[in-house]
Amino acid sequence: MAKVLIIGAGGVSNVVVHKCAAVPEVFGEIILASRTRERCEEIAARVKKHLNRDTITDQVDADDVRRTVQLIQKHNPDLVLNVALPYQDISIMDACLETGVDYLDTANYEPPDEAKFEYKWQWAYREKYQQNNIMALLGSGFDPGVTNVFCAYAQKHLFDEIHTIDIVDCNGGDHGKAFATNFNPEINIREVTARGKYWENGQWKSTDPLSVHQSFNFPEVGERNMYLMYHEEMESLALNIKGLRRIRFWMTFGEEYLTHLRVLQNVGMTRIDKVDYQGHKIVPLQFLKAVLPDPGSLGDNYKGKTCIGCVIGGVKDGKPSRKFIYNICDHAETYKELGSQAVSYTTGVPAMIGAKLMLTGKWKKAGVWNMEQWDPDPFMEDLNTYGLPWKVEEWSHSVK
Ligand code: NDP
Repeated sequence: MAKVLIIGAGGVSNVVVHKCAAVPEVFGEIILASRTRERCEEIAARVKKHLNRDTITDQVDADDVRRTVQLIQKHNPDLVLNVALPYQDISIMDACLETGVDYLDTANYEPPDEAKFEYKWQWAYREKYQQNNIMALLGSGFDPGVTNVFCAYAQKHLFDEIHTIDIVDCNGGDHGKAFATNFNPEINIREVTARGKYWENGQWKSTDPLSVHQSFNFPEVGERNMYLMYHEEMESLALNIKGLRRIRFWMTFGEEYLTHLRVLQNVGMTRIDKVDYQGHKIVPLQFLKAVLPDPGSLGDNYKGKTCIGCVIGGVKDGKPSRKFIYNICDHAETYKELGSQAVSYTTGVPAMIGAKLMLTGKWKKAGVWNMEQWDPDPFMEDLNTYGLPWKVEEWSHSVK
């Protein structure tokens, strides 16, 4: 039985801690540490109530490598599972390197002062992790995460050659608030307001933010408008899926969300540079986060479903083929199970599964890895077991 140290105590963490606690044969001991200890204690109390399992809590500012090293040395875990923010990825990877402990996260590093997420900073650790005989698994959430594994599964079982991938992400739910984001508002708004980017014939092509869109008929949700965006899993999939000619990422947004976002942008509230306010330096987007609803609190009354998956085109047995691999997740059901909305749920479950596969040795090799570089089969099996069942369908409509 292994010991896991989970860092971060937000919406995703609530799901990860519950899901790890529900698999005691793998996760023998769970330590939860975050910047604000009370949030760890709240999660620990919920886990105790639901599953009658104890969680050890602690406090850490994970931007501080020295403090994070001390935390790891104090608890001596087999794996550090990072569900804090992408800004902490590098400092936690450094602390794991110094202490010789395996690492997992759900979102790739981005520097706080530049909305630019790229794998180069984390891939730069490959050799150091290999030399120290430790492993890092990057992006074990839903997208990135499950979407990468869907592509690996398609490559292994469904196609002889894959030519196109369209990752489609729809939240068809309604939380009843005028404006809220489903995960950390700062990270979410930085992502959505960035320029769009996709990969075609070996080259990255960029588009104005949210300027390319089309309608898509999502199973169990219906017809929705989805917008082309840049998303991190495309960077590794473009390298790791053989014969790929084009990969794009699409996300749905409602009119009300987009109108609010446009206004917030126009008045400068999404800026990430520091401004002077009554003698204090503040970042407008961080202030906005402080006044928006906490994504972890959206579960109550959240209705509707998410549908996230990959439309994959290619060749099988000499014939053209197109498949849609996807999961449907219901906000009300995840709230009933864990008190969490579906976006936190669909991220937290794969983080637990990634950790489980590492700790049981099914996915285990020194170095820094993306999800599609592993055998997809045990992960796909666990998705069905732990709450995220998936389907594969023939898909007759192409994504324009
Ligand atoms: P939240 O904002 O709800 O939670 C983040 C947590 O991290 C908070 O508890 C926060 O502490 C803690 N934290 C922030 N800074 C530090 C620090 N310096 N040291 C220690 N702890 C810190 O975020 P979510 O739960 O919504 O998201 C968690 C992660 O999951 C993010 O990286 C997000 O990008 C990723 N994600 C990935 C998805 C995927 O599909 N791959 C989808 C959705 C999210 P405090 O309580 O003090 O603020």
